[in-house]
Amino acid sequence: MEPAMPVLGFPLRLRLLAGLLLLPPLPARAPEPAAQDVSLGVDWLTRYGYLPPPDPAQAQLQSPTQLRDALKVMQRFAGLPETGLLDATTLATMQKRRCSLPDVRGVAGLVRRRRYALGGSTWKKRVLTWRVRSFPQSSRLSPETVRALMRLALAAWGMETNLEFQEMGAPGPAEPDILIDFSRAYHEDSYPFDGLGGTLAHAFFPGEHPISGDTHFDDEEFWTFGSKDGEGTDLFAVAVHEFGHALGLGHSSAPDSIMRPFYQGPVGAPQEFRLSQDDRDGLQQLYGKAPQTPDEAPTGKPLPPPPLPPTLSPDSRSVPVPNRCEGSFDAIANIRGEIFFFKGPWFWRLQPSGQLVSPRPGRLHRFWEGLPAHVGTVQAAYARPRDGRILLFSGPQFWVFKDRQLEGPPRPLTALGLPPGEEVDAVFSWPLNGRTYLVRGRRYWRYDEEAARPDPGYPRDLGLWEGAPDAPDDATVGNTGDIYFFKGIYYWRFPKDTVTADPDSPHPVGPKWLDCPAPSGGPAPPRHPKTPRQPEACDCQCEISRAAGPPGRPLLLPLLALLAGGIASC
Ligand code: ZN
Ligand code: CA
Ligand code: ZN
Repeated sequence: MEPAMPVLGFPLRLRLLAGLLLLPPLPARAPEPAAQDVSLGVDWLTRYGYLPPPDPAQAQLQSPTQLRDALKVMQRFAGLPETGLLDATTLATMQKRRCSLPDVRGVAGLVRRRRYALGGSTWKKRVLTWRVRSFPQSSRLSPETVRALMRLALAAWGMETNLEFQEMGAPGPAEPDILIDFSRAYHEDSYPFDGLGGTLAHAFFPGEHPISGDTHFDDEEFWTFGSKDGEGTDLFAVAVHEFGHALGLGHSSAPDSIMRPFYQGPVGAPQEFRLSQDDRDGLQQLYGKAPQTPDEAPTGKPLPPPPLPPTLSPDSRSVPVPNRCEGSFDAIANIRGEIFFFKGPWFWRLQPSGQLVSPRPGRLHRFWEGLPAHVGTVQAAYARPRDGRILLFSGPQFWVFKDRQLEGPPRPLTALGLPPGEEVDAVFSWPLNGRTYLVRGRRYWRYDEEAARPDPGYPRDLGLWEGAPDAPDDATVGNTGDIYFFKGIYYWRFPKDTVTADPDSPHPVGPKWLDCPAPSGGPAPPRHPKTPRQPEACDCQCEISRAAGPPGRPLLLPLLALLAGGIASC
C-alpha cells in the first residue's frame, strides 16, 4: 500500500455533525466510510487513472459526484456491483496485490468498448531480445528458474502471433528490447515499489526509448513458482501479465484475462498455459495471427519445463524467521486499514479483508526506511489520525514516519506528556474522542492530538478500561472501531465506543488474526478482575451513558459524545 494522505479527523467530525443536523435518525442511512478509507480510496483511484491527479494549487478534495462516478467506473472494470460507494467489497478490492500500471489512461471515465485495451504502441520488428539483468534476492528461485519462467512467459505470447523472443547472454554493447530487473523501492524510474504486497510489477509499453519494453518486478515480494500452499506470489503469472504490457496491451476487465490488473494467483503449469481469447484478440490486433496455429505444428522444439525450486532448506545467511503462530508480539498497529504485527526485526501485515499479505514476515528495517539499525524491537506503534504519520516507539523515544520514510530525529516521550525516562507498552488512538492513549504497566496517559498537548490529570488507572490486561503488548483500533488490547497469545476486544471488554475476552490471537490453528492446551487465558468503581466519581462508562441519554438510541451515541466535547475522563 502506498502514500495515502488521510483526510483528517476534523472533517469527519464535521460530517458527523452535519449528519446529526440532518436527522431523522431512523431508519439508519448507509454508514459513512471512515475518513481513512475515503483517503485510501481517493489515492487508489488517482493512482490507477480513475481520478485526475490532484491539483497542487488546491486542497486535494474531490467532489462527491466525481468520486462516485470514478467508483462506478472502477467497480465496472473490476466486475463488482456498481454502487458508486466505497463499500467493503470495493475497499477489499483496492487492497489486492496488483500491477502498478493504471487501468484507465488519459481522461478518467474513459472506458473502451472492447474489454482489452491497447497501449497505443507496438514493436516494429518481429524478433525481440530480452535479458534478466538482476535476480530476486530473497526468493528461493534460482537464476536458472527465473530465466526459464521468463522464457515460458514470453513464449505464451509468442505462440499466438508471429513474434519471436531471443535471450541475450552477457551484457554487450546493445541493450535488449526487454530488460528485466528485480528492484526495490526507488529504482530510477518514476514508479517506486512499495515493499511486500501492494504493487507487484510493471512494464513499459513498446517504443523507441531505451526503457520501452523493460519489465520490473518488486524484489520485496516473495516470488514463488509451483508453490503448493499458495504461499508468495507466482512469478510466472505476473510475468505473463507484464510482458503483455511490454508488447503493447493495457489492462482488461475480461474475467479470464491475464491482463486483469489484480493478481489472480498461479495459473498452472507454465508449459501448458494458453492465453484467453480476450488476450489473444488484443495481441493479434497488434501483431496479427501466428502463421500456424500452435495446436497443429508448433515451430521449434518444445520448451523444457523450468527447474523446480529446491525444497526449503535452512538458509545459513538469513536470520531465522519467527513463527507467527507462537508467542507474543511486540506491537500491533492499524495503518490505513492494514493491521501490522511487529515481532523483533520482523512484521506481518493483514489486509483490511483480514487476509495475510504473506505468511512470510517483512523485514522491519527494510520497510521503515531510516529506522536506526540499533532499534531491534518496536514496543508500540500507531497511525496518527490527524496527519496519517506513523509513530514507532522504542525505549523512551519514538520515530515519526511519513509513509515508509523517516521524518526527522527521534523524539522523546516527554513530548507526549510522559515523565522523563518513562516508556510505553501500548499506544492507540480512540476514534470516539480523537485522543491518543499511552499505556505503561497499569497506568495510562491521554494525549490530545488536535490541541497537540497531553490532557491534565493523567496518568490514570488502566482499570477504567474494564477488563484490560496490565502492561499489554500493544493495543489498536480495528477497522470497525473496536479497540483491541493484546497480551501474550490473547486479545481483549472493547466493542466500538465502550470501555468494557466483551464478556468472552480474552480470545486467542492466532486464529482470528494470523490464520493460525486454535491453541491446544497450554495455560488458561488470564482473567482480570474488575476494578471496583469509585461510587462518587462518574467514570468513563458512566460518562458515555450520560452522553447517550436514555437507552434505545444507540446510533446517536457517538454523535452526542462528540457534541459533548468528547469523553472527559477515560
Ligand atoms: Zn498491468
Ligand atoms: Ca509491492
Ligand atoms: Zn520500474
